[in-house]
Amino acid sequence: MHVALAGNPNAGKTSLFNALTGAHHKVGNYPGVTVEKREGIREYGDLSFRIVDLPGIYSLTAYSLDEVVARDFLLEQKPDIVVDVLDSTNLERNLYLCLQFQELGIPVVGALNMSDEAEAKGIHIDADILSKTLGIPLVKTVGTDGKGTEALLAAVKKASQSGSSGKMPAYGEEIEQCLAGLQNAIQVDVEFSTRYPSRWMAVKLLENDQNAIRKLGQSPRGESIRDQAEADRQWIRKHFGKESEIVITEQRYGYIHGARAEAVRKTPTKKVSPTEKIDRFLMNKYLGLPLFFLVIWGIFKLTFTIGAYPVSWLESGTTALSALVEQTIQPGLLQSFLINAIIGGVGSVLSFIPLIVILFLCISILEDTGYMSRAAFLTDHFLHAFGLHGQSFMPLMLGFGCSVPALMATRTLKSPKDRIATILAVPFMSCGAKLPVYVLLAGAFFPGNAANVVMAIYLAGVILSFLSTVFLRKTVLKGETTPFVMELPPYRMPTVRGIFWHVWEKTWQYMKKAGTVVLLASVVIWMFTTFPVPADGPHTDEYKLEYSLAGRIGKFVEPAIKPLGFNWKIGVALIPAFTAKELIVSTLGILYGAGGQGGAGGAESTAGLREALRADPTMNPLVALCMMVFVLVMPPCFASIATIKSEAGSKWAAFQVVYSLALAWLLAFLVRLVGSLFI
Ligand code: GDP
Ligand code: MG
Repeated sequence: MHVALAGNPNAGKTSLFNALTGAHHKVGNYPGVTVEKREGIREYGDLSFRIVDLPGIYSLTAYSLDEVVARDFLLEQKPDIVVDVLDSTNLERNLYLCLQFQELGIPVVGALNMSDEAEAKGIHIDADILSKTLGIPLVKTVGTDGKGTEALLAAVKKASQSGSSGKMPAYGEEIEQCLAGLQNAIQVDVEFSTRYPSRWMAVKLLENDQNAIRKLGQSPRGESIRDQAEADRQWIRKHFGKESEIVITEQRYGYIHGARAEAVRKTPTKKVSPTEKIDRFLMNKYLGLPLFFLVIWGIFKLTFTIGAYPVSWLESGTTALSALVEQTIQPGLLQSFLINAIIGGVGSVLSFIPLIVILFLCISILEDTGYMSRAAFLTDHFLHAFGLHGQSFMPLMLGFGCSVPALMATRTLKSPKDRIATILAVPFMSCGAKLPVYVLLAGAFFPGNAANVVMAIYLAGVILSFLSTVFLRKTVLKGETTPFVMELPPYRMPTVRGIFWHVWEKTWQYMKKAGTVVLLASVVIWMFTTFPVPADGPHTDEYKLEYSLAGRIGKFVEPAIKPLGFNWKIGVALIPAFTAKELIVSTLGILYGAGGQGGAGGAESTAGLREALRADPTMNPLVALCMMVFVLVMPPCFASIATIKSEAGSKWAAFQVVYSLALAWLLAFLVRLVGSLFI
């Protein structure tokens, strides 16, 4: 049995999905978290439900990409049942979508979710009466603790056996006549009307839905149906004095209003809701933005001051480990391989895990409470000034974690130009993989000020993404931004489970990368730095390294990066950075430890690597700064570029690579130029 979970954004679909299937996908207290459909299985009695969690939508108009995804899924895959997850505190708007599901001709079961919040707000819904009025089964649920899921499954089972989609919403006599005529005309083509339910198609034609009109092309009778619909729309316009799509919308709301009046009772709650109280302070006209920046600054401070302790424990751990290897294994290739490739490469990347955990713990608390949506609101005005959009905020914020989900989250943006602009801005947000690079360089060359320098780089990325958007908006992406519409969810207590899974997911991703990509690349880089071994010549480490393949590659790219003050070792480290940014740290770890004494104090621990970097005469604070700028701006990792390609097309992916590489070089050069005036 194929079950689709659909409904408005933030209605609790993913929470219910997790409760039903035992999955733990990301739940967030703002719209647009789920951008892809996800599947899970739930056994129930003798039935097996294949449940799909769809992106949230407000309507089936196919204006935005998530509407297209959801609508195409329902039309093409034809699930056996749609479970419409309704936010009980916002019934009117949620039912608007429900009616459209009913018209699709697929049996609908309504989950009256957030029933706990509705009760708390004094909204009493009589599910039986509402169910009779709408003609669909309704079950009260609480997504966060799984209350009502058993009853929901029972209702799904029952509805699947009856196979009826309940009664259709009525549009009033005149429109029903038009619909009946159109339905008759559509049903003549049997094949077409099994693919697209005739009632749904007729309503969409009256709504002047371009996507549906195009679908008529699949029927030989399409042309005449289109003419008939056009005539009907004209008649409605004359008769009602407004466009037919507006009349249809009004009729739907009229129908919903009637249903609600029957079934919903509201006890007036005089007292100001906690959300309003908090918002008076946090969304204050003057205090709002400064508070937001204070919060962000606080997160950085927390991450680095508290995170410094566990990071240093892990560092001593890796140092101890390599000392152990040095004592127990003969000096030679095996020892160098273990110390430099394995402990040096992977260990240095792993020691940053505490920072990742703390940063994501803070971010997910902000997301789940609902503060992130406020931040989108607070910054909307500001973002518009740069040609971005309030809805760009979420993708940009997600970009601090990883560009891949951030790029996918741009699907909530309706206008293609706003969307491309956001896609091109996202990679300038420093992702989690860049953090270790900044921390290493700032720790080595700005020891007193490391946290501030890292924060300044993050901030520079934000500013750069804005300035870059202004530039692109004036050149390749000319056009106005569209207005911002987003609702603010109420503040909610984050659930421990939700936070835990979110942080775990991010940490696990990072660890997996360390164990796969980073490990593999470390081995390759170690081989590149070790072979070929020179037969004669001075047997110094430096000479061996220069003689190796890595040395030759580094020397080869050196002319291109010399103007930036980068030595050839940095050149070697920057090459794998196109695959993953963490590799810079592990590559430097290998390069600065390669062939060296190894053991405690060598470059295989990040503490040792900091020492080794400082000891290199070609390195200094300015070079480190230029390097941070270059890493900040340079093209994102392969996975992100592939995502840009699939989200925006290869043209924009190629543009992004060339543009950011050129910009990275230019900015690093400028920093060096300006910096050298002061040194
Ligand atoms: P989706 O966008 O429809 O997938 O919604 P989510 O599952 O991501 O949930 C949105 C927010 O509502 C999250 O903060 C959830 O913890 C919260 N939530 C979901 N269901 C309920 C519920 O029944 N009651 C309450 N109080 N909160 C809920
Ligand atoms: Mg979701």
